[in-house]
Amino acid sequence: MKPAATVALIALSLLPTSASTQSSRAARPNIIYIMTDDHAAHAIGAYGSKVNKTPNMDRLAREGALLTSVFATNSICTPSRAAILTGQYSHLNGVTMFNRFDGNRMTVARLLQSGGYFTGMIGKWHLGSDPQGFDYWNILPGQGVYFNPVFYTAMAETTYTGRYVTDVITDLALDFLKNRPKGKPFFLMMHHKAPHRPWDPTDEHAAHFATQRIPEPVTFWDNYETRTDALHENQQRVARDMTNRDLKLPPPEGLAGQALARWRLLKPDTVTIERDGKPVTLTGEALVRWKYQRYMQDYLATVQSVDESVGQVLAYLDKAGLASNTMVIYTSDQGFFLGDHGLFDKRFMYEESIRMPFLVRWPAAIKPGTRSGAMGLNIDFAPTFLEAAGLPASADMQGRSLVSVLRGKVPATWRTSMYYRYYHDPGDHNTRAHYGVRTMTHKLIYFWKKDQWELFDLVNDPYELHNLYGQPGQEVLTATLKAELARRKREARDDDQLADAQLPNGVDGTAARLRGK
Ligand code: CA
Repeated sequence: MKPAATVALIALSLLPTSASTQSSRAARPNIIYIMTDDHAAHAIGAYGSKVNKTPNMDRLAREGALLTSVFATNSICTPSRAAILTGQYSHLNGVTMFNRFDGNRMTVARLLQSGGYFTGMIGKWHLGSDPQGFDYWNILPGQGVYFNPVFYTAMAETTYTGRYVTDVITDLALDFLKNRPKGKPFFLMMHHKAPHRPWDPTDEHAAHFATQRIPEPVTFWDNYETRTDALHENQQRVARDMTNRDLKLPPPEGLAGQALARWRLLKPDTVTIERDGKPVTLTGEALVRWKYQRYMQDYLATVQSVDESVGQVLAYLDKAGLASNTMVIYTSDQGFFLGDHGLFDKRFMYEESIRMPFLVRWPAAIKPGTRSGAMGLNIDFAPTFLEAAGLPASADMQGRSLVSVLRGKVPATWRTSMYYRYYHDPGDHNTRAHYGVRTMTHKLIYFWKKDQWELFDLVNDPYELHNLYGQPGQEVLTATLKAELARRKREARDDDQLADAQLPNGVDGTAARLRGK
């Protein structure tokens, strides 16, 4: 997606002021925070998707606000979740990779709970420790699975045989809403597994995409010219890094156990498919195009399950008379490459990876159709929920409340640049560690273990294909961006202490205990 070219801000003269909505505790909004895993904004109709339709997510955008420039500060699952809960960057909340989140830390859930909210957490948690600050929680162990999913609470583990994970999360969320104590506002974190790898859709959703040809993105055949070694070395390419499991290829007959497990992880460079009743062996460019179709058909099919889930939640709010004063957020823990730059994961500081969808409907406070290109970050979510609830943010939080932005009034002092840092190196997909700064017009990325830089002009090169670093004539721009990067890094209080720390992975507390029995 291109950065927002225009920012349409709508005057909100008819809406109540911040002071009046917060004056009465009884009027405090309910908050339903719906977060998916790896759902890129460019696979949502309201964000201009060319690959799918999402009518229920689009309804949130139509009836509420759509922010075009909300970014993850470390584009990977577990760190983004920790940043969202704490309002802090990875180097302060301690979760730089897949390491365990210390549940005793201050979180937005704790603050809302102590501020009088009934709090719930349902679905994918993935923080390597049990949730705290929630009156009710029911979560997937680790990544969870799509079919016959296991969920666990502090007391018990339940297998939902014959069920699909998105549907179970939806049912549990609706039960939470129906059974909640009615005298309190509620805060529900509803975290879907979809559309995370390995993208296992239901037959019904798979059928919807099985015969569709998904358009390839304009950078699908990017040859990485002018970019650093880091991009060349990555192992998240559609062309060569998708496994037999990713592509849902049928295993050879008779394969079982370890041999089957090993086969699933192989990355095929020829595939034989059936076309018009005849076997056809694909290689080279034809195979790459086929892999992209298989990937996107399944990815988008899992997104459809979530879109339907959003519709079910909105229908319940309508029926229960809760729609007006309930803030419904739809977002994802980060973006994702949908074949952009030939990739299928995230991690890199490029636009498709760091951009998070951010849709918010709250009829009592946000005018329908509100649009803003103000730069938001995942560390802003916690302060946003707290302001909406009329509660102060913790002094430890590094983000800023987005409530004014959502009301269509961007403060004069609002940020125009952001700091980013990705640590997982060596790690999955061989994506090299880097940090950088993104302004409203440019991006500077530093791969510190390689001492290599990339610099992009986001206005004239929105797809980040032309690395300007070291080019003649870019000296002043480079110096300006380096100074801004240093300023942002300092302001974020990143002193490089965790830069190369290999922290141990987390183990789900109660899940491990229950399984140990
Ligand atoms: Ca994720």
